[in-house]
Amino acid sequence: MNTLLDRFCRYVRIDTTAVENAGTYPSSSGQLELGRMLTAELRAVGLRDAMQDEHGIVLATIPATVARDVPAIAWIAHLDTSPETTGRNVKPIIHENYDGRDIVLPGDPSKIIRVSDNPELLHLKGKTLVTTDGTTLLGADDKAGVAVIMEAAAQLVSRPELPHGPIRICFTCDEEIGHGVDHLDLKKLGAVVGYTLDGGGQGEIDGETFSADLAVVTIRGINIHPAIAKGRMVNALRLAGLFLERLPRLAQSPETTAEREGFLHPYRMEGGVAEATLRILLRDFETRRLAERAELLRSIARTITAEYPQASIDVTVTPQYRNMADGLAKEPRALAYAQEAMRRAGVEPKLTIVRGGTDGSRLTELGLPTPNLSAGEHNLHSPLEWTCVEEMTTAVSVLLELAKKWGENAS
Ligand SMILES: [Zn+2]
Repeated sequence: MNTLLDRFCRYVRIDTTAVENAGTYPSSSGQLELGRMLTAELRAVGLRDAMQDEHGIVLATIPATVARDVPAIAWIAHLDTSPETTGRNVKPIIHENYDGRDIVLPGDPSKIIRVSDNPELLHLKGKTLVTTDGTTLLGADDKAGVAVIMEAAAQLVSRPELPHGPIRICFTCDEEIGHGVDHLDLKKLGAVVGYTLDGGGQGEIDGETFSADLAVVTIRGINIHPAIAKGRMVNALRLAGLFLERLPRLAQSPETTAEREGFLHPYRMEGGVAEATLRILLRDFETRRLAERAELLRSIARTITAEYPQASIDVTVTPQYRNMADGLAKEPRALAYAQEAMRRAGVEPKLTIVRGGTDGSRLTELGLPTPNLSAGEHNLHSPLEWTCVEEMTTAVSVLLELAKKWGENAS
């Protein structure tokens, strides 16, 4: 069996779903389990320093094969999967020699991967695809990246004739819930540039991401027995409904925007009569526009509390990550070498923007320029998620070329 495919299927079977508000780091034990497995596999191919730290982060080094002093680069992927779709009991289905048609998923035939929704499939006839059975996500986000890095590491170690500098391997936890780099020590990582393997399809280099804030709107009403509520009760749930109603709906929402447009995205509502909270994502490529969106929330809060003076509405905004373009400009080799490596691996590179963030957005902000590279991911966070083995194989070649490129040109 193809070792890359074998790795991928092994990794996705471990449930590493991130759990919001778990109170532990990492947020789920499956991430520790997968990390242990990877650490053992890295040691088995000869990376003696492979270790899983106290936070569950896996680190290892592929030693340099050149004598010159060459800066280290890092290959990075995340172990967790999105909580949006269950990652328990993932049963990967391999479609060899894909016939080019819609794919009906056997565990839930209402789930169909349609060619019309996935035009990339038109170019993948005859390739090997991996899907779910329709009842879970696949977890190619980001186990495709994990498998690609593991395979590239094994190949690089087995070919000492390839000239390269030190390569640091790093698997992070809880990326999907915004905590991918909370415990990552960049000094310990010791790289001049990082590459996350967490991108769609093939041949793409994400050099720009959203800037992102999280707004938590806490609405406090007055609860009292409904029997005697007349003129006294102020129902926080109703005010939450009012708040949502006043958000822009026909613009500035994920449902109505694309490309470089930002949005406000209410994604969770909790609470009761006394208190309700709304969690709202603020996103934009222009960081300064996040403040304008936060101000919109505050003005809605002010108008509602003017109408319901006994209620209080608090809007708390926390920064999540920032557009990586600024940080990448300081280390132009990060993108230039990635483009060159892709050409050498036989793919025409395409610079793209991400309507989201990756570990790389935070890392770049913290001083480690980290663009994101394609790893064969499609339909993330969904039961319709799939990947293509040939695209992952290309990503492995890109990593090998990238290692060589940094080995050659660094002074
Ligand atoms: Zn991811």
